Amino acid sequence: MSRIIENSANLYAIAQKIIPGGVNSPVRAFKSVGGNPLFMDRGEGAYIFDVDNNRYIDFVMSWGPLLFGHAPPHTTKAITETAQKGTSFGASTKLEVDLAQQIVNCVPSIEMLRLVNSGTEAVMSAVRAARGFTKKDKVIKFEGNYHGHSDGFLSKAGSGLATFGLPDSGGVPASLTVDTLTVPFNNIAAFKDALEQNRGTVACVIMEPVPGNMGVVPPNENFLREVRDLTSKHQAVLIFDEVISGFRLSKGGAQEYCSVVPDLTTLGKIIGGGLPLAAYGGRREIMETISPVGPVYQAGTLSGNPLASAAGMAQIQAIINNPNIYDVLEERAIQLQVGLEQAGFIAKVPVRVNRVGSMITLFFAEEPVSDYVTAKASNTHRYARFFQLMLDKNVYIAPSQFEAMFLSTCHTEEIISSTIDAAAECMLALE
Ligand code: PLP
Repeated sequence: MSRIIENSANLYAIAQKIIPGGVNSPVRAFKSVGGNPLFMDRGEGAYIFDVDNNRYIDFVMSWGPLLFGHAPPHTTKAITETAQKGTSFGASTKLEVDLAQQIVNCVPSIEMLRLVNSGTEAVMSAVRAARGFTKKDKVIKFEGNYHGHSDGFLSKAGSGLATFGLPDSGGVPASLTVDTLTVPFNNIAAFKDALEQNRGTVACVIMEPVPGNMGVVPPNENFLREVRDLTSKHQAVLIFDEVISGFRLSKGGAQEYCSVVPDLTTLGKIIGGGLPLAAYGGRREIMETISPVGPVYQAGTLSGNPLASAAGMAQIQAIINNPNIYDVLEERAIQLQVGLEQAGFIAKVPVRVNRVGSMITLFFAEEPVSDYVTAKASNTHRYARFFQLMLDKNVYIAPSQFEAMFLSTCHTEEIISSTIDAAAECMLALE
């Protein structure tokens, strides 16, 4: 191995003594791919540099927010200028109103919204609003979709279809997941059954319209439309969790990309420009249940923080100023998809490359990946080996099979070509 990662190793040794697992979010620990996690020093465009000054092409992109790569001047300028005026007031600012207005302009289904600090908080709050509005309790979610780490969502499917959920994490009482029902993604019959078996009790259905958290799994044709129709029929609120897909697949998110309109939407990642900011919003009558207008309580000391709002505004403004950005991203993503497929073919390594827009997952799988079960069938050992080989070629992909690769406008044709070359060599080196 040519890379020296001594400084990362030293930091990891210290971090493990004072931070659980040495990391502030589990996937950073490289547990599913092995080896010591890297500690990053800085980013420039499509590249990140670790604390040993190794440079990598970055396909994690902070798990999605960095549509314009690392440290784009429009965002850093906005943050710097805003910081000079103070970092937080605990009172309203013009920046929050401007950002909210920008989001409302871009996502037509959002008539009103609240800014919060994380995707987890956005989802938790959106579900509370849906429950307050419908005065019902149950939530249906889809297997393999991730909606943050609040208690009610750390649940897995019970033993039978549409049974109550079971906690999937320590520290979560069964009483808190009992109202969370989990059904397979892309299976409309199972979804219909769940709604019918729980008639009159389902407050909302929440889904990643284009899931990225079991790796990228495109929705089957008509799946989203049928979910929409059935949810309306059962008077449940449909929540699209667009924390990843919002502003990534199009200016209007997956709902614009797939032409299906939810009642509520959660956003995060891109709308914060790499700072902690998220939002939930949608139909006015549902959002008017939120305090202080209505009885559903939700609050936050740093909600709508000026630095995060300024960063988000700068990023969304850059999207508005570059109307062809999604075509360019898609073109690059297709180049990468085709290159990875060919690399697998030449090396005789079975791969399935799922792509929607500029979200891609390379599954080491024989069969098509269309839901959680088929995603789980992929060869995670091979992925782990591939990940390490790619790191040695200075390409940083997600340290887990069940994540997406994210492109930015800084991933040029040349950068994608060299990534494909690296991947081709790594595939040949796989057993
Ligand atoms: N929803 C989706 C679809 C996500 O991908 C994530 C995080 O990756 C979340 C919610 C939670 O967001 P956060 O990590 O900001 O709490």
